[in-house]
Amino acid sequence: MRTGEMIQPVINEHVDPDTVCEIGGGISTSKSFVETVADKWTQNVPTRRLRTTKRIPPDLRRKRIDFSTEKNWLRRILWRSREDSQFVRTGVQLAFGLLCLWIGVEFYLFVSWGRSAGVAAFHTRPPGVEGFLPISSLISLKYWLQTGVINEVHPSGLFIFLAILFVGMLLKKAFCSWLCPIGTISESLWRFGQKLFKRNIAAPKWLDYPLRSLKYVLMAFFVYSIWQMDVDSLRSFIYSPYNKVADVKMFLFFANISSLAVWTILSLALLSVFVKNFWCRYLCPYGAFLGVVSLLSPLKITRQKSTCIDCELCTKACPAGINVHTATRVWSDECMSCLECIAVCPVKNTLDVRLTKKTEPIPTWVFGTLVTGVFIAVTGLAMLSGHWQNNISKAEYARRIPQIDSPLYQHFRGQVPAYDPNE
Ligand code: SF4
Ligand code: SF4
Repeated sequence: MRTGEMIQPVINEHVDPDTVCEIGGGISTSKSFVETVADKWTQNVPTRRLRTTKRIPPDLRRKRIDFSTEKNWLRRILWRSREDSQFVRTGVQLAFGLLCLWIGVEFYLFVSWGRSAGVAAFHTRPPGVEGFLPISSLISLKYWLQTGVINEVHPSGLFIFLAILFVGMLLKKAFCSWLCPIGTISESLWRFGQKLFKRNIAAPKWLDYPLRSLKYVLMAFFVYSIWQMDVDSLRSFIYSPYNKVADVKMFLFFANISSLAVWTILSLALLSVFVKNFWCRYLCPYGAFLGVVSLLSPLKITRQKSTCIDCELCTKACPAGINVHTATRVWSDECMSCLECIAVCPVKNTLDVRLTKKTEPIPTWVFGTLVTGVFIAVTGLAMLSGHWQNNISKAEYARRIPQIDSPLYQHFRGQVPAYDPNE
């Protein structure tokens, strides 16, 4: 069953038998893996009885698309990519998740070499792992802004951070719903909960607002701590033994995970089954940072009041709990640009991504291309300009990794122990 099929019976009772949403059609017997996953992820869009008595003018009805009528699988995928935003988003999420998995495996082999004192085979360290060092990257950003120097300890971390910021500034929090692997896991968990219990739990407003501010408190703590560091402190941290192996330390934290950390992660995962995007909505400081940055985004979900039939399907489908059906432009810092609201809107040209209320809508496939394109462009620039690989040699890693548990490789709130810079 697909989104269109779930919504259609509801609409049929009130509007018109031909009124459907963007995704729909008969059951295809030859689906690709990505198509199957996209189906699974789009079939649980909550439905509700339409309150509206407004009718959709025939020329504005969104027609059901039966993708199975195209027998050639490549043409079918291209067609669906053009018409079905959630199909594209699921594909991008899967691709990015696999990329992160590949980085994880490569890094595991690298750390195994480092921990074996040279006995195990050497594997090159994947620079993409620095994307998982947001605090170090924020410090690198401030150091770069103050000195003009791109440090050579974690340069790719800085560029990945910049890529995420640019995506946020142009496309709201699209990073969270299109690229972030934690966002993908969060979404999988609440969809699983929705499938299991037929619904998710939404916290009441009096609880939701203070909980949502928690992530801003965490963000403010990190930003303030880094803000008050002067250039000497920044440089001291960046070139410290701790920061040079911060990625290895992060890996070992998870490899030798404490029972407290396991229980914490399991609790968050369990809460995410019941509450949509629990971690992202309430606790993720990265998401809070992007929420602030996203206010600058010129592209926003835009509703045309004149053609809207007030069916509220968009609001019901929104995983961020935004009242889309009452907005003309969605400014909310919680909007993740997932485009789910657009996918369920039954009226053509009524809910779109636009630069302004008056400008032409941006096709959803263009939006998806922009999300991945901006990210690839910024990280590609780092590769082309020689700021992707760090300057820590194999010999230095072989010397440092076995000592990683010594006091020299610790820090307290950004303060690192004294070290010999020439070592
Ligand atoms: S407003 Fe639309 S794009 Fe934004 S989070 Fe809600 S459903 Fe996604
Ligand atoms: S914008 Fe929302 S309320 Fe209006 S027609 Fe589309 S789905 Fe219904």
